[in-house]
Amino acid sequence: MSVRPTLVLDDVDRTHGSGETAVHALRGVSLTVSAGELVAVMGPSGSGKSTLLNVAGGLDAPTGGKVLVDGHDLHALTRPRLDALRRRAMGFVFQDLNLIPSLTAIENVSLPMELDGVSLKRARAAARDALGKVGILELADRFPEHLSGGQQQRAAIARALVGERRLVLADEPTGALDSTTGDAVLRTLRDQCDDGAAGLLVTHESRHAAWADRVIFLRDGVVVDATGEAATPESLLEV
Ligand code: ADP
Ligand code: MG
Repeated sequence: MSVRPTLVLDDVDRTHGSGETAVHALRGVSLTVSAGELVAVMGPSGSGKSTLLNVAGGLDAPTGGKVLVDGHDLHALTRPRLDALRRRAMGFVFQDLNLIPSLTAIENVSLPMELDGVSLKRARAAARDALGKVGILELADRFPEHLSGGQQQRAAIARALVGERRLVLADEPTGALDSTTGDAVLRTLRDQCDDGAAGLLVTHESRHAAWADRVIFLRDGVVVDATGEAATPESLLEV
């Protein structure tokens, strides 16, 4: 296990707009996620959960504070280096799936590796492995429009997990899934973290947060309870 945390948010602010209409989506958020750890993020709608994930993945820039991934300050990197770090080290699962409609499931999953210079053969083998883990290997050659919502979700998860992703960011990844498939997806995410990835999972369901090592709660852009007794997965299960 690495000594250096995979993800560090240090006193991060994110303000949208300015003046009277400014929205403080994140205020002074500090958070560390180490290799092997899965952290769940919970909080009401509009509390800043998606903003937190976007900032952690370098898709959105903080207006204050720092974000480090594997020790790299994301906003000190040049654009090409940030893109390369994202492709190589990070996996994203969004609420809207962002599968590319003109590519088959396996092409969607292997694309990040191919873009990163991995040989087609190796990228496709890794993609097959990832599709197998989420249980849709037999659908590898289908286009997204010929997959159900749940199958598309699983393809998106496979894409986020393919290769050696060290940081996996998932924003309500089980939204479109029935509970059995949702549990399978959570198990896959948990396995990836047990294999050494760091994970950040936004979820509304305490049943899913219970897969995490820690739960943080956001309210109006502030972490309201990062570690206390009330925030352990076990205590959530008891409620
Ligand atoms: P959550 O995911 O918890 O529902 P979000 O991170 O999406 O919350 O949003 C946090 C706050 O920031 C909300 O008040 C939202 O309206 C606002 N917000 C998010 N993105 C933008 C944006 N691009 N421009 C302006 N306000 C935004
Ligand atoms: Mg959200």
